[in-house]
Amino acid sequence: MASVVTETLDPFATAQGQVRQAVEALGAPQAVYEYLKEPCRVLVCSIPVQMDDGQVKSFIGYRAQHTDVIGPTKGGVRFHPQVTLDEVKALSIWMTFKCALLGLPYGGAKGGVVCEPEQLSMHELEQLSRGYIRAISSIVGPERDIPAPDVNTNSKLMGFMLDEFDRLKGQNTPGLITGKPLVLGGSRGRAEATGRGCAVVIREAAQVMGFGLAGSTVALQGFGNVGSHAARLLAEMGCTVTAVVDARGGAYNPHGLDVAALTAWVGQEHSVANFPGSSPLSSEELFALPVDIIVPAALESQITAKVARTVQAKLIAEAANGPTTPEGSEVLFARGIRVIPDILASAGGVTVSYFEWVQNLMNYYWPESEVQEKLERMMVDSFHAMADMADRHGVTYRRAAFMVGIERLSEAMAARGWIA
Ligand code: GLU
Repeated sequence: MASVVTETLDPFATAQGQVRQAVEALGAPQAVYEYLKEPCRVLVCSIPVQMDDGQVKSFIGYRAQHTDVIGPTKGGVRFHPQVTLDEVKALSIWMTFKCALLGLPYGGAKGGVVCEPEQLSMHELEQLSRGYIRAISSIVGPERDIPAPDVNTNSKLMGFMLDEFDRLKGQNTPGLITGKPLVLGGSRGRAEATGRGCAVVIREAAQVMGFGLAGSTVALQGFGNVGSHAARLLAEMGCTVTAVVDARGGAYNPHGLDVAALTAWVGQEHSVANFPGSSPLSSEELFALPVDIIVPAALESQITAKVARTVQAKLIAEAANGPTTPEGSEVLFARGIRVIPDILASAGGVTVSYFEWVQNLMNYYWPESEVQEKLERMMVDSFHAMADMADRHGVTYRRAAFMVGIERLSEAMAARGWIA
């Protein structure tokens, strides 16, 4: 009889499982899991927006704050039709572990609004952004919870949110939100930060695995703010980007895609589809390509057990949050495919968000080279903290990354007297 694999497609169940297993692997007190298994606060709101045709339409919004044991909570806000409360809760847990692994003085948070951003005009998006921050204004702030961009949100929308908050409070509060426009106190290097952090840890992993990036081939799922910068930087490091797939289509050329030309194409066409000199490609086909490195830079639960069985790459760097299901992870592990987990490979963004917040609190702004150097150092140090933990305990990078987080979170819990 064929065995039936049940796939864990609920990211919240996945996140809770990852935390529980890391607590067990370290032999940390059960209380640590009790503190971390749920976000400490969740806000659900309805955001009425007057649409361009004069009608009022209400959108559902969420903000989940996971734990403030290490510092204020931090995390992005996504605009997407499939946002759910459970997804936002899972993403807030992952933000806690990203921050803990990178040594940032934050806990995790995440927000989301259920909407179809492509169907909204810029004016409607502005009203939605303003309405969202008004709805959560009583629980955010530079010392409480600091939002940022995520899927389908960007610096422009962060600018509107900051303005709305400043008007409400009657003061300027640049440290409220990160990923803002430069002129409002944004940081140099923030836009490319997640992509840069991902490229840096790929370089470190390749070194540990004993292969050079020069001539290595890369396929990316997603070519938004994360995927496009990761592709550019990996190409600069000597990789050949042969395939990219986004929500509307794909582009494949086994001899390599010109990343700069592809970026210009996407700027005009809003998709990689039909890029001159490429053939079409689906996500399913992308994951099965004969490439060295795959970078999932889109949404959750893409690499299921079924997909994982088709992977030929030797390294996967999770630039998205939660792109691999637990069953997918097991298959990749059994097949000897190395995975740099999301909580490290996607941590460059929040790391530069931290630099942005520090600059806002000091009112003193750094040159881009300084941001890049500091990001590079923190990504490299965190990669090695994870790799050392993996070697010491004989576990995967993913388990080890969560274990480093649990160590730091338990230390903070003990220092606050929450656990013995
Ligand atoms: N949304 C990004 C993430 O998932 C960045 C969060 C932030 O900068 O606070 O890591």
